[in-house]
Amino acid sequence: MLYIIFLTGVCNLRCRYCGGTIPEEVMPHEIQYDIEELRKFLEKDKDAIIAFYGGEPLLRIPLMLKMMDMLPAKHFVIQTNGLFLDKIPRDYINRLDAILVSIDGREEITDYYRGRGVYRMLLDKVKKIRAYYHGDLIARMAVSEESDIYKEVTHLLTLPFDHIHWQLNVVWSPEGSWRNFDAWVRESYNPGITKLAELWISNLKRGRILGIVPFQGIIKRMLFNEDGLPCGAGRDAFTIATDGRILACPIGGEFQWNELGDIWSKEPEDIRNSVDVDEPCKSCDIYPICGGRCLFANKERLWGEEGFAKICGTVRHLVNEMYKARMVVEELIEEGIFKKEDFFYPPFNNTTEIIP
Ligand code: SF4
Ligand code: SF4
Repeated sequence: MLYIIFLTGVCNLRCRYCGGTIPEEVMPHEIQYDIEELRKFLEKDKDAIIAFYGGEPLLRIPLMLKMMDMLPAKHFVIQTNGLFLDKIPRDYINRLDAILVSIDGREEITDYYRGRGVYRMLLDKVKKIRAYYHGDLIARMAVSEESDIYKEVTHLLTLPFDHIHWQLNVVWSPEGSWRNFDAWVRESYNPGITKLAELWISNLKRGRILGIVPFQGIIKRMLFNEDGLPCGAGRDAFTIATDGRILACPIGGEFQWNELGDIWSKEPEDIRNSVDVDEPCKSCDIYPICGGRCLFANKERLWGEEGFAKICGTVRHLVNEMYKARMVVEELIEEGIFKKEDFFYPPFNNTTEIIP
């Protein structure tokens, strides 16, 4: 299973859609358990994947290295804002199978959401480590009203990333982040997804799979009949808070449905499949592909039923585009241009949630 481990609640940025450091009352800033206690909990799972998270996890590099030395894991992953990437020792960085760097697309868009100068600083670090980092370098965008999905993704495809992923800034977004969500979806996001899907398909026909994670992840679900919530929250993905609490989803440590016990009183098998999405997802016609999109959004209808349905509209559009892509993919597999396994991405739960 996947374990998302908070190394700290502290962050060195204050992005528009996030707010920066997590308040102490939601989660202590520093870990409150011994790493040995976490090791004892994790060693009972022979297939553990560990993802370092925060706050900004690279504000605690010595702690991360110690955990990498002590904790049993098949894969290590990190989600970072990228500003300290070059401080990870080289013999450790290549033990990280995937590094997800928060970047929101073009310079002006990234700097608008994340702070002036952030784009250049983090790109400088990305280029530095790309010279010696051989794992999967993933650009992870938060997509909001200023974003033009086609322009942001095609820009990121020109940078030294292996894959591009994004999540919509919806449901937990602070009040006032959207002026007109409906118009943005209608005039910008959905048409952008269509254009991007066409670009992806035209590249497939030339024998190239562009590393666009939502497309790859949905095609994988279609070809390999994967089901359930794509991010795995509450099923086979869990979060370990700094105080040793186990959460289903890393967002919203203060919600009761999200708390599943702690590393001292639970074992991995006690928590497997412990939380699932509720209706309307289970009876939705695209549930086999969408999987309910996001457990947090499903439980906390912060935008109400109508708002929930609006977000589903974006998923439906994306899935429809991928039905078209699937036909091309199957033809190309039949012609021998690709093997089915070429579409097995992500190879493990690397914290890309698949459905934005
Ligand atoms: S499209 Fe909406 S209702 Fe359907 S499964 Fe996804 S989140 Fe649930
Ligand atoms: S997709 Fe939703 S439920 Fe899954 S990890 Fe992200 S916020 Fe949590």
